[in-house]
Amino acid sequence: MSFYDIYSRYKDFDIDSFYNNISDKDIELILQKDILNEIDFLMLLSPKAENFLEPIALKANSLTIQHFGKTILLYTPMYLANYCTNQCLYCGFNTKNDIKRKQMSLEEVEAEAKYISSKGIKHILILTGDAKDISSVEYINSCVNILKKYFNSISIEIFPLNEDEYSKLIKSGVDSLTIYQETYNEYIYDKVHLKGPKKDYRYRLDAPERACKSYINSVNIGALLGLDYWRKEAFFTGLHANYLQNKYPHVEVSISTPRIRPHVGDFSPYHIVSDKNIVQFIVALRLFLPRCGVTISTRESENFRNNILPLGVTKMSTDSNTSVGGHTNKQNQTNQFNICDTRNVEKMMEDIKTLGYQPILKNWDII
Ligand code: SF4
Repeated sequence: MSFYDIYSRYKDFDIDSFYNNISDKDIELILQKDILNEIDFLMLLSPKAENFLEPIALKANSLTIQHFGKTILLYTPMYLANYCTNQCLYCGFNTKNDIKRKQMSLEEVEAEAKYISSKGIKHILILTGDAKDISSVEYINSCVNILKKYFNSISIEIFPLNEDEYSKLIKSGVDSLTIYQETYNEYIYDKVHLKGPKKDYRYRLDAPERACKSYINSVNIGALLGLDYWRKEAFFTGLHANYLQNKYPHVEVSISTPRIRPHVGDFSPYHIVSDKNIVQFIVALRLFLPRCGVTISTRESENFRNNILPLGVTKMSTDSNTSVGGHTNKQNQTNQFNICDTRNVEKMMEDIKTLGYQPILKNWDII
C-alpha cells in the first residue's frame, strides 16, 4: 500500500455537496473531541468552519505549546544549482526560461557555508533544480561532506530519489527531506508540468515514503497553494502527513503551506489563496495532527508570519535568498521566486523573542 491508495479513495469525492450539508453543530462537536478522524479534518477545512476560526485557533495554540513548547526552529535555504530539465509553469528555473544557469563549485559551497554559519544558523536546507546529470547524487554528496563541518542539520530539497540514493545521502549526513507534491490533483499536475522527469506523479508522491524507508529523521511535505482549490490541497496534505506519521513513527513529519510567488515567467495562480485560508489550514491541521511540524517560509510577509506564529508554526526560514550562491554573491542573479520577508537572523530572533517564543538555532547534532 502507498499513499496513492488513500488519495484514490478521496480523489473524486464531491467536496462541495459534502460541505453543503455541514451544520454549526458538526463543528461544535469536533471542537469537543480529543482525537479527530479524516472527516473531522475535512469539516474543519469547510466554509462553515470559518465562523469558528477563533475557538479552533485557541485550541491549536494550546496543542502546539503542549507538543512543541514556545519555540521556533530557524533555518536558511542555500541554492547549489539552478540547472533544470523540467518545464514547471510556475517556476523561474523552468528549462525554457532564458536565465543564467549556474552550479556552485565545492570551493564556493564552502565559502557560502562559512558565511551563513557565521551568522549563527546551524540548520541548512540545500536546493537544486532537477538536472540529475549535472547536480548528481555524487555532487550533492560532496556538498554534504563540506556542509557538515558547518551545520548541525542538513536538509535536502532536490529531485526525487530512489531508496538507495536517499540512504547514501542519509549516511553522509542528510537528516531531513523537503519535497512538495505541488498539487495532489493528478489532472492539474499533468497540466502544469509540461515536460521532463517531474511529469511522473506517482514517483514524486512516493518520494517521502522512500526517504522514510531509508531511515531519514524528518520529512516536510506540502502542496504549492494556488494550483487547485486550497481546501482539497490542505485535505490531501494532511492525509499524506497522517499516513507517514502512522506508518513511520520514527520520522518527524512536517508540512509547509507555500503560496505561488512572483518569478521569471508569466504564470498566475489558478486559485487565489488568502491569509485567512492559510490560517484555517494551519489550525485545522494542528487539531487533526497535534505532533505535525508546520513550516512557514519567507514567501510570506513579516507581518503575516508574526501573526500566525502562535497558531501552530514550529519552523521558519530566515535571511533567505533563492538564487545560486546568493548569500555571498548578490550580483546579477536570477531568483527561483521573489521572497517577501527579508528579515536577517538577528532581527528575526529579536521579533520571535518579542512574541514570547524562543528562537532555536541548533536543537541537535549529527553524530
Ligand atoms: S519547480 Fe523544480 S523541477 Fe520545476 S522547473 Fe523549478 S526547479 Fe525545475
